[in-house]
Amino acid sequence: SDLLTTAEYKALAADLDLPRTAFIDGKYRAGHGAAFTTFNPATGLPLAEISGCDATDVDLAVSRAREAFDQGHWAKRAPSQRKEVLVRLCKLITRNRRELAVMESLDSGKPILDCETIDIPETIETLKWHAELIDKIYDQMAPAQEDAIAMILREPIGVVAAILPWNFPLLMMAWKIGPALAAGNSVIVKPAEQTSLTALRLAELAAEAGLPRGVLQVLPGDGPTVGAPLGLHMDVDMVSFTGSTETGRHFLRYAADSNLKKVVLECGGKNPCVVFDDAENLDAVASHVVNAAFWNMGENCSAASRLIVHHAVKEPLLERILARLRDWKTGDPLNPAHHLGALIDAEHCAKVASYLTGTALAGGTAEGPFVQPTIYEISPKDAKAIDEIFGPILSVLTVASNDEAIALANDTNYGLAASVFTANTRNAIRAARDIKAGTVTVNTYGEGSIATPFGGYKQSGFGGRENGIHAHDQFTEIKTIWIDLTDPAD
Ligand code: NAD
Repeated sequence: SDLLTTAEYKALAADLDLPRTAFIDGKYRAGHGAAFTTFNPATGLPLAEISGCDATDVDLAVSRAREAFDQGHWAKRAPSQRKEVLVRLCKLITRNRRELAVMESLDSGKPILDCETIDIPETIETLKWHAELIDKIYDQMAPAQEDAIAMILREPIGVVAAILPWNFPLLMMAWKIGPALAAGNSVIVKPAEQTSLTALRLAELAAEAGLPRGVLQVLPGDGPTVGAPLGLHMDVDMVSFTGSTETGRHFLRYAADSNLKKVVLECGGKNPCVVFDDAENLDAVASHVVNAAFWNMGENCSAASRLIVHHAVKEPLLERILARLRDWKTGDPLNPAHHLGALIDAEHCAKVASYLTGTALAGGTAEGPFVQPTIYEISPKDAKAIDEIFGPILSVLTVASNDEAIALANDTNYGLAASVFTANTRNAIRAARDIKAGTVTVNTYGEGSIATPFGGYKQSGFGGRENGIHAHDQFTEIKTIWIDLTDPAD
């Protein structure tokens, strides 16, 4: 691999030119809100002072976004031309990938290993997938009557606000702006206040790639100051939100209290890994479980925080999980040997640490922002088995039957992702159908790929799916054009 050494990453980090202001109407400009500090979660030291936005900047950005949309320099360009610009953006990200990876790791505490091998490559892949899609999809003709033609067209929605979380700052931005821009919308991004840097830099690169001004703008600031005015704005046509279920509810209220804008929510999860008594290759199962629970420090909406295991395989599986975990080192995010970096901030660390109670099978300790991957055996009524902790804590729940496992898997208000491990095809398919989650993986763990829809049942989501052609649907309106063909002479 072409990873660098820790010292080389640190040298790059010291040299980074960090963005410090909003990106509005094609250029960096200071916002009217209060300045705020973005910290390096691993050291607790300030990284940059950022000029924050407020409702005045929201109004300005929305009017520029609307102007850009109405003028049609982007929305009405041929799909193949929009594709070209977005492909050029992918090339620019590739050229700057190392700088973006280091910036992402510094600002979010994520391990550089993941930034280099997952976050940045998947950001590029996502943008490219939607760019490549846009000139290959067709509209439809409806089966109307003999003397009429009915066309069903997809049109861009208009001005879209993308509200982002801090756990995958650049990748979640790509999941939203990829399909939204490809479809022709103007997008205003509000990054999480903990992680504004890579979003701002991406907007700059998009302008360099030839995206017209006003089509992609980034407004740093916190939820109440920037997120709320976007959610309540009468001229924002859609909000695409990723974050907690609690904040998601606010956006439904904002829409109800303003212009009934379209709202799509991707929220939290309490995702189960279900291991049946007939699961094979427990070494592989253990490896998937460790990855599912501890990847990205468990700060992952689809993290598997509940291992629901049949008692017949529990002991041999736990033994393998504990052995596997020895390879997962926690520490300095800029050391490419580390699988776990720092949790995002002190407030979140305190929340996660409050769950470090009882006798742990592994981990159980926190040192500043570094929490060891932790495993507890608990009962289903324990808060650890119910709450979305969003940290590296795995709860093991033992069951006596496969049916009990499915019932327990569904005993949650969430329904984002789930995994089932079994060698029996019938059991696998039945379980996959019975589990109420947007993605169920069998004998593996993951979110599928950029080509497959991703989103939640129950309180994990609302209003649509990200990724794949489903994401294109999300960022477009359906229009019917009905044309009468009767001859006036008849
Ligand atoms: P959060 O809900 O605190 O914040 C998300 C965004 O909403 C931020 O940009 C924040 O500034 C903004 N916001 C907060 N309060 C607001 C308000 N009152 N009005 C308007 N905007 C407001 O979430 P977070 O802590 O950044 O991220 C963690 C959560 O995100 C977890 O629950 C996780 O499961 C979820 N998540 C879900 C997915 C998914 O695809 N389903 C992906 C990643 C993260």
